[in-house]
Amino acid sequence: MADVSRREFLVTGLAAAGTSLVSSTAGAQMRTETAPMRTDAPPGRPVVISSGNGLRATERAMQLIVQGQDPLHAVVEGVVIVEEDPKDQSVGYGGLPNEDGIVELDASVMHGPTHRGGAVAALRNIKTPSRVAKLVMERTDHVLLVGEGALRFARAHGFEEVNLLTEESRRMWLKWKEHLSDEDDWIPPEGETEENGPVAALHPSRRTYGTINCCAVDAAGNLAGVTTTSGLAFKIPGRVGDSPIIGAGLYVDNEVGAAGATGRGEAVILSGGSRSVVEHMRRGLSPQDACLEVLHYIAAKTLDPRLLNAEGRPNFGVTFYAVAKDGRFGSASLWSRGQYAVFAEGRNRLESCAYLYESPPEKPRPEKPKSGKRQPNSAAGNP
Ligand code: ASP
Repeated sequence: MADVSRREFLVTGLAAAGTSLVSSTAGAQMRTETAPMRTDAPPGRPVVISSGNGLRATERAMQLIVQGQDPLHAVVEGVVIVEEDPKDQSVGYGGLPNEDGIVELDASVMHGPTHRGGAVAALRNIKTPSRVAKLVMERTDHVLLVGEGALRFARAHGFEEVNLLTEESRRMWLKWKEHLSDEDDWIPPEGETEENGPVAALHPSRRTYGTINCCAVDAAGNLAGVTTTSGLAFKIPGRVGDSPIIGAGLYVDNEVGAAGATGRGEAVILSGGSRSVVEHMRRGLSPQDACLEVLHYIAAKTLDPRLLNAEGRPNFGVTFYAVAKDGRFGSASLWSRGQYAVFAEGRNRLESCAYLYESPPEKPRPEKPKSGKRQPNSAAGNP
């Protein structure tokens, strides 16, 4: 898309407007902050950026960086807080399971100074896949371990095995199964419909994604990043998203910057997402514009009618997060209302993501399909 028309779409949101934002996440002790910062002005280093569920991660990672710890250790220990939190159903312990009711986790890490990476995919029974991914980087000659092999590697390193399915996640999975089709043998309790309680949120066309990405640059300009997820809720067992794919859900180049992604992993894989963000920064785009550029590419390459809304736009969500070596940072989503966490200039807060498309007002929940045929996957809240 030509630059002029692209800019017609570009709305930088509250961050550039200097709007006051309040950060609040379960368990986090955050202050209300005014955010006068423009994302195109170098705020200096260190900087830690994360997805909207990452305020506790940015806080912890910044503490460790200020103490002089390696930025990869810092971001991994930051996201571990969210991996271990049973209340976050998009990551680690308590993540929503696959269609068989088993939680399978994906994670990757990348370390700028050594240009090394590690990842695990479809890992069961381990709460902190990000730590396992870091060990794949440090203690093997490989980059990616999957499934049973990843679990055996984690066992060899003394990771405790636990059932990752919390009672709440089991309950949501069961609701999803019972409301999936009128033509199978799973029947919801008497009187329960898709329109009441948690069932509504589990309508097949509203299956949720969720992930945490966290990238950092330290005072010396060294970069690192991590992405960790339970992936698409109720996925086909063995499905692997973008998060453990270096270059897709995460990429770090110590000369340029770091980037990560959340949202529909299939689209991020097919666009080489995070690597492309870094390459756009290398050729001079700001972190925010680099994110937007890749989102335009994703939109242009989304051709399957099942993945397009009535206006021909992607009916799913993707968000990129990026930090440059000089400390500039930014984030952008396909759809408005996204937020990201950032700790920069001594302040930890949520900022609004730039975006391509204004999200329409929330629509009433769609009717349950009578045929039992599922709608294509789309991130919750997106058209
Ligand atoms: N990108 C993740 C995946 O597709 C999910 C997410 O970010 O919400 O597995």
